[in-house]
Amino acid sequence: MKQQDLNTRLVHAGERSRDQNGAIVTPVYQTAMYEYAASELYDDVRYIRMGNSPNHAAVEAKLANIEEGEAALVAASGMAASVAAVLNSLGTGGHVLAQRSLYGGTHTFMTEDLQKMGHDCTLIDPAHPETWDARMRPNTRVLYCETISNPLMEVGDLKALVAFARAHGLVSIIDNTFASPVNFRPIPFGFDISMHSCTKYLNGHSDLVAGALIGSKEKIASMRKTLVHLGGSIDPHTCYLLQRGMKTLALRVHRQTETAGALAEFLSSHSKVKRVLYPGLPSSQGHAWANEALYGYGGMLGFELEGDVSEAEAFLNRMTIPVIAPSLGGVETLLTRPAATSHLGVPPDARAAVGITDTLIRCSVGIEGRDDLLTDFKRALDGAEENA
Ligand code: PLP
Repeated sequence: MKQQDLNTRLVHAGERSRDQNGAIVTPVYQTAMYEYAASELYDDVRYIRMGNSPNHAAVEAKLANIEEGEAALVAASGMAASVAAVLNSLGTGGHVLAQRSLYGGTHTFMTEDLQKMGHDCTLIDPAHPETWDARMRPNTRVLYCETISNPLMEVGDLKALVAFARAHGLVSIIDNTFASPVNFRPIPFGFDISMHSCTKYLNGHSDLVAGALIGSKEKIASMRKTLVHLGGSIDPHTCYLLQRGMKTLALRVHRQTETAGALAEFLSSHSKVKRVLYPGLPSSQGHAWANEALYGYGGMLGFELEGDVSEAEAFLNRMTIPVIAPSLGGVETLLTRPAATSHLGVPPDARAAVGITDTLIRCSVGIEGRDDLLTDFKRALDGAEENA
């Protein structure tokens, strides 16, 4: 049977299990444990930290369906999901090859925390496959990358990353947060594990923290054991909110992608803008690979203005519609300087090494009117105060 449209699956997948008294929306099962049912396996003991409530099952079924994986798990945050996936795949004394420009928290985990646990990580440039072989070690077990990287919007050679991981028997994990399943589906593309900070696009309303992993039944079951022992479980009420938010994912992301494309073009043509980072721009790094792998270029972009940090801050203060705040993927447009927020924990020399300057501004485009946003950007770039 032909696969249904993503919008149809976002609305209906995982909904209306038979035992919910006909309720159209999955009710919140706000209970920490369930009556004992003579479970034979530890994993079947029905307890809140095990992540096996009807709310977990419903949202996980929706996630697996829309990402076209066999199974999914939800976690207490994006970091809980990625840490569980990486630690589970590393075994004892393992080594990761990770993309050099990553979300700040992941970067610090890879370059500082793993080492304290007896593992190690080497950073790679995802645009240069010819350099990866030399970074391999006998204990390399994981390849970790981001579809569209935070905050530089890099798209690597995704086909080559999949092929390299397969050729060397590495578990390939890709953080698909920026693209969302609307713009990229890692599992049919060949990655082993797709990871999300659901705090962002999947929920879309900036009111919860959650993470997800999608992959084969076997890998997800094994990663769930690690997650449960790390204590990274998510509450049923958060599952319910995430499930609700996901129903409008494609509507939101299509609109955000369209507006981001228009904004990227506008910024590229403005004399006060030094550079624009957006995979949809033909001049951008990774444009060809984005065309090859993605369905759309996403709602995130980066740009640098002429001038120093104080001028960047003054520009931010002149904006009226976007909120100046970290995070991304919600219905409201957000602006932030990654060097002062998401990547503040990354040492300045490591930021400089990959091109995360102090003046770089990251924009998460919301669903507001496109012309309202363009007008606001133009006014703030031209140096005019509101009502001036
Ligand atoms: N991955 C990316 C690309 C992110 O931007 C973030 C957070 O900003 C994370 C992972 C971590 O997600 P969370 O904050 O849900 O733990």
